[in-house]
Amino acid sequence: MYNWDDPINEALNKPEPVVPTATEKVDITPSDQISAESTDVLDQGYTGMENLEKGAGRIQVDDKAIINCRADLNQLIPFKYDWAWQKYLDGSANHWMPEEIPMHDDIKVWNDPKALTEDERKIVEVNLGFFSTADSLVANNLVLAVYKHITNPECRQYLLRQAFEEAIHTHAYTYCVQSLGLDEGKIFNMYREIPAVATKAEWALPFTQSLGDPTFRTGTKENNQRLLRDLIAFYVVFEGIFFYVGFTQILSMGRRNLLTGVAQQFQYILRDESMHMNFGIDVINQIKAENPELWSEQFQSEMIDLIKKGVDLETRYAYDTMPKPILGMNSKLFEEYIKFIANRRFIQIGLPEQYPGATNPFEWMSEIMDLKKEKNFFETRVTEYKTGGQLKFD
Ligand code: FE
Repeated sequence: MYNWDDPINEALNKPEPVVPTATEKVDITPSDQISAESTDVLDQGYTGMENLEKGAGRIQVDDKAIINCRADLNQLIPFKYDWAWQKYLDGSANHWMPEEIPMHDDIKVWNDPKALTEDERKIVEVNLGFFSTADSLVANNLVLAVYKHITNPECRQYLLRQAFEEAIHTHAYTYCVQSLGLDEGKIFNMYREIPAVATKAEWALPFTQSLGDPTFRTGTKENNQRLLRDLIAFYVVFEGIFFYVGFTQILSMGRRNLLTGVAQQFQYILRDESMHMNFGIDVINQIKAENPELWSEQFQSEMIDLIKKGVDLETRYAYDTMPKPILGMNSKLFEEYIKFIANRRFIQIGLPEQYPGATNPFEWMSEIMDLKKEKNFFETRVTEYKTGGQLKFD
């Protein structure tokens, strides 16, 4: 019975728990659940579903590994990857909800037949079409494919935060669609009906499917590379390249004082996305550092081709969504911008630039997302969030 008078003394004098001997330890028996490709069982990581190892030695920092870790995944501390924990804190400090952004002016502008041209309306609809399903594809990739194979609690902590942010983004796009009174069926089916939107979604899905296979486990070089490939496809290409034409188009409307509520939603999302991508790049580089054999010449050239394919698809999206110049921008400028962004992505994961001399035609976008300003940007945001203010466009 619990001793209310002296619980500490009681706890200290409790008989020692029975510790299982080494032979009693429960080992995972994944034999019939492993992909035929995964032959080296010892190299496979834990998933977090293992039985408790009572009496096992305490976790040391060096026991932790980003993939294929065989140490308890339920102990956040001691931290090994401070960058992951810091991003979790930054993301959480930056919390926002779509309803906090006023949409009244946008509704007036949208309903005023003279306020926007047909082309401008099309740009808004297509981007809401792409983004309203895109973040769902990213969330599915995180939850159904990536999470299980990242064997580190601080990274998982950020993945959980990111997954919630993807839900907030889908909420935000839906909120824009509903506020403006758009045809919901038309917008949400664009990723199946409008080629410019469908091709990007179609390109990304197989990467999720590849890891989502319930028999898939990391642990072999081939399967570890499969995970790395998915991370590059989603963090570097999907969140790091595929979002930028649409973000730029919508944010440029905000800069012209058009649909400022929608633009502000996109600006908050862009800031979150910039952190998602930076987290993904840190994960990719950490996996490379811990498993250098994965980063073979052949794999590097495959990843260069993968990212270049992403550049081609995003360039096509720019031409399809902007067949003629509007908002002071044209598709040619976007082609240059995508190459400029892609060069940065190549460098961030340790690959050579593929588009020498590409310049940034939209310097003002750097003001919003430049990594050097990320910290200040967050500090500003947190203060403004607390006072109920709004970000201003320059
Ligand atoms: Fe994201």
